[in-house]
Amino acid sequence: MRRVTTAPRSPAPAASGNFLRQAIGHDIAAATYSSRRWGGSPGDARHHAGGPPDWAPIRTRFPPEPNGYLHIGHAKSISVNFGLARDYGGACHLRLDDTNPEKEGLEYVESIQETVRWLGFDWEQHGIRHLYQASDSFDFMYRAAEYLIEAGLAYVDEQSAEQLRINRGDFGRPGVDSPFRDRSPAVNLHRFREMRDGKLAEGAAILRARIDMASPNINLRDPALYRIKYARHHNTGDRWCIYPMYTFAHPIEDALENITHSIATLEFEDQRPFYDWLLSHLAQGGLINTPAPRQYEFARLKLTHVVTSKRKLRQLVNEGHVDGWDDPRMPTIVGLRRRGYTPGALLLFAERVGVSKADSWIDYAVLEGALRDDLEPVAARAMAVLDPVRLVITNWDQVMGTGHLERCSAPVHPRVPERGERSFSFGRDLWVERADYAESPGPGFFRLFPGNLVRLKFGYVVRCTGAVRTSSGELAEIHAEVLPETRSGTPGAAAVKVKGTITWVGAADCLQAEVRLYGHLFKVAEPGAGEESFLGEINPASVQRVTACVERTLGHAQADERFQFERLGYFVADRKDHQPGEGKLVFNRITTLKESFT
Ligand code: ATP
Ligand code: MG
Repeated sequence: MRRVTTAPRSPAPAASGNFLRQAIGHDIAAATYSSRRWGGSPGDARHHAGGPPDWAPIRTRFPPEPNGYLHIGHAKSISVNFGLARDYGGACHLRLDDTNPEKEGLEYVESIQETVRWLGFDWEQHGIRHLYQASDSFDFMYRAAEYLIEAGLAYVDEQSAEQLRINRGDFGRPGVDSPFRDRSPAVNLHRFREMRDGKLAEGAAILRARIDMASPNINLRDPALYRIKYARHHNTGDRWCIYPMYTFAHPIEDALENITHSIATLEFEDQRPFYDWLLSHLAQGGLINTPAPRQYEFARLKLTHVVTSKRKLRQLVNEGHVDGWDDPRMPTIVGLRRRGYTPGALLLFAERVGVSKADSWIDYAVLEGALRDDLEPVAARAMAVLDPVRLVITNWDQVMGTGHLERCSAPVHPRVPERGERSFSFGRDLWVERADYAESPGPGFFRLFPGNLVRLKFGYVVRCTGAVRTSSGELAEIHAEVLPETRSGTPGAAAVKVKGTITWVGAADCLQAEVRLYGHLFKVAEPGAGEESFLGEINPASVQRVTACVERTLGHAQADERFQFERLGYFVADRKDHQPGEGKLVFNRITTLKESFT
């Protein structure tokens, strides 16, 4: 399988673009849908015929099943569908595809809406809230089913599940006609109504389309349309005990909503002939608006080091492998959001990945790159030390005065001077990163080692004089002497040349913060792709919590506020646990910086 590690820096221009844009461009030029009317809400042919010409040149939809939280793959679908509608001045509907009563819930419905909004999209266009539920169309679907029965295009099949399976055949073997296939429409109608009225047990019968049991496309071998399920539905309650199959419901919802381009993922390619079969018969019967929508397929997003299947994500949550749907290691949108990802970064990522017909894994680095590019121009800078060790300026009291604190300042953003300066103090005692000291440095190491000159960024140049170790050999503190005239921003600053610059915080005014350092949730790039179950591939060390020393300005950080910690990466104040008022600072590392320091 192809692995994509880099993506083009800028999206393709809207005009040329991918195969979806080509199809849309073609339909607009050919006025394919321009005769259609729009009744103001989803409805059948009559309903739409009573409305004005549809103002929307295209209608797309994002149709999640409300059975889990949305993930990065959905962000791509949202970006594609809402993005196309926006670019062509059309409408994108948010449709809750809630035809399966058992696994769905209101918690998910609310979270889906919040996620779409958070990504910056809105289903209200032209004063209409295009928020629909598939279950609102159960009456029409039922009517469509009766129409097909009467037209001899559907029948009630009472074979056992086992017989159904065997008689469907497989890739090498055609199917076998059901003994129930040739019953009269009247008998079928009667039986179907009995299904509806709760006279048959679950599994006793299904309604099937009557197409072709010998078709090389298994999806055309009399696919199921309705099944019996004695389950309560969160929208329709106990009204129904038969529910439409997704493959039957979906094309109908598209038609009722006047969708023009119904964009699906590649696994639905084999369903397209049935999609067209169904809609062309309903159009012939005068039930739906015409011309009917068409389905297009693009490759599902697969991102390395994560799983993007709601079923697997649910398992991670339910079995306690993560701390909930919004765990910052989760590829759910709520997880990515808590991790610190911005809507802008996710949309940029989706654009860079683009739509294609070829299945591929996208490297997680592409997502991280989009985040960096989104945050770099806007994130306020700050200094933090994640693995602090004390640096004592041994000559400080003597040359600067006992207990003196020198105010140092740094730009909030190096390229946006209007955003002003931040300030913090430099004194005798500082904190620096443990890894910035080496007793006997290797080649290319220009940071603290005995005799070396190093600049403390925005502060002074110091000469390292050595270190004190504990009896067990652990680094206890580093010693250095300040060169008094070298403070950044003063005339003397440039007089001394140094090869290394390090970050630091002053012990006198820094704050403590919990910083959560996240790694990949899975230790392999393509979890679940090989022999092993994806659960066996979980990275046992995907989070590390450290007590960091951070610049005092971070005491004002608001939850969700994002920063670039100089040299270290991008961080966000955790939206749940960070409580600046109570002095509890909690930051998540979103991603490291690309640059590596020596
Ligand atoms: P899952 O297997 O995770 O449940 P799904 O496709 O069943 O995924 P839905 O809620 O039915 O999830 O999906 C809503 C929409 O999002 C569909 O149009 C689907 O094609 C799209 N979608 C879901 N996952 C991806 C993905 N990884 N890449 C692109 N689009 C996706
Ligand atoms: Mg699904």
